[in-house]
Amino acid sequence: MAENPAQFGLMLTLPSLGGSSALLCCGIVLILLIILLIIIIFYKRKKDFEAYAEYGMGDANAPTTIIGYKHPCKYCDKLVNQGAKVCPFCGKVSPLGPFRCPKCMNPTTRDQVVCSACGLALKIICPFCKKETFFGDYCDKCDKRLLIVCPNCLKEQPPIGDKCMKCGKKIKKQTTPKVVK
Ligand SMILES: [Zn+2]
Ligand SMILES: [Zn+2]
Ligand SMILES: [Zn+2]
Ligand SMILES: [Zn+2]
Repeated sequence: MAENPAQFGLMLTLPSLGGSSALLCCGIVLILLIILLIIIIFYKRKKDFEAYAEYGMGDANAPTTIIGYKHPCKYCDKLVNQGAKVCPFCGKVSPLGPFRCPKCMNPTTRDQVVCSACGLALKIICPFCKKETFFGDYCDKCDKRLLIVCPNCLKEQPPIGDKCMKCGKKIKKQTTPKVVK
């Protein structure tokens, strides 16, 4: 008799396993192997795809449609990752997707004069260069970020109206531009 009680227990239970249970064990192992194989294949494919996207960046002639993970920045046209908040090449915010109304975030286009959702004027005089510009994130003419700072609470905000979004105090026309780039 085996001195080890665990070994003894194993000897007792093994013969009691019926043929069907052994088959079930084999089946489970097989399924686990298949799952593992699928994961490995999936991982490899993902790797290949990323490598391809990387390759696409260097080749100016590669069609952009097959590069799944990168999209052109709307300011500098360089390819940036999907979901990027800032373009790593030109440093501008929201490099992807449509322009948005600074007040209600409704998508806009550069040819719109007012926001279709909230009626905000989308043609404004840039507070820095005093020239007319589309009300996006940046001035069309001087390229400065269209943000002003409330002198009272220091809240950064797009130049909408003459009152601060946060503290409600009147914001005087700013003469010294704050360069946010
Ligand atoms: Zn860019
Ligand atoms: Zn709006
Ligand atoms: Zn300007
Ligand atoms: Zn304020």
